Amino acid sequence: TPIPDYLDEILDALRDDDSGSVADYIPALKAANPDLFAVALTTVAGRTYSSGDCDVEFSIQSMSKPFAYAAALADRGEPFVTSRVGVDPSGEAFNELSLETGSHRPRNPMINAGAITTHHLLVGSGTSRQIRVERAREFFSELAGRPLRIDERIVESELEAADRNLAIAHMLRNYGIIEDDPHEVVAGYTAQCSISVTVRDIAMMTATLANGGIHPVTGTTVVARPIARRTLSVMASAGMYDAAGSWFTDVGIPAKSGVAGGLLGALPGQVGIGTLSPRLDDHGNSVRGQRVFRRLSADMGLHLMDSE
Ligand code: GLU
Repeated sequence: TPIPDYLDEILDALRDDDSGSVADYIPALKAANPDLFAVALTTVAGRTYSSGDCDVEFSIQSMSKPFAYAAALADRGEPFVTSRVGVDPSGEAFNELSLETGSHRPRNPMINAGAITTHHLLVGSGTSRQIRVERAREFFSELAGRPLRIDERIVESELEAADRNLAIAHMLRNYGIIEDDPHEVVAGYTAQCSISVTVRDIAMMTATLANGGIHPVTGTTVVARPIARRTLSVMASAGMYDAAGSWFTDVGIPAKSGVAGGLLGALPGQVGIGTLSPRLDDHGNSVRGQRVFRRLSADMGLHLMDSE
């Protein structure tokens, strides 16, 4: 079967699954159309295939975390970034208020504590919220190959209910992990999470990570190869929060979910994948998105630990 027909078939086979529910802790996300369903793949050769609601924009949310981590590594260097945020799975929920004992580092850049820290590391010390947010927006736009914009409606709505992230940021400043005003850092992080993307953008952005940091269409080196490798490694161990182990065992694709219903995955040397389906399971991961990945992994033999 040609790839586009195959993608249509997968969506048709899974369309009726209406289990899970849309995120409700961010008022603007509660209003999302739960039936949206889309998938896109971009190969390292730069070809994109998609099906379903592939031009619908939604907020990138936690799928921004691996890209912000890659940008922070590029801006500040690996040793400094690693002194502030670790690379071990936390085995906890995305918004858990926990830090490593001793170092007080957040365990990894995929949980909110680590992602808020990573956002704060963008560009350089003592910089402003606007500069960090612009760095994220420009970097994501370069990866997507088109100018992305921030959905201010989502930012506003999310900041109305940001007490938990503010609590995390205050704790991070208490331990000297971040230096800036926690309100500014959370506002910047929230803007980063509110960048609007389509599944086609996500597949394209992820394909650069799958391609060792080289953009599959422009051929530009967007990040150095060790940064792409490190980012995918952290996704593999922590991208699916407390479900990361069972996810990697079953599907074998480094992935990252977002609370707006996006899911991205990267297969090194092969393909970047993006899906959208807003209903989430108890871990905060898209129900049908995960099923699409399971199908792709099984049908196309994409499990990384498979020797074939
Ligand atoms: N902006 C969201 C938060 O910090 C991201 C969570 C997610 O996508 O899992 O709560």
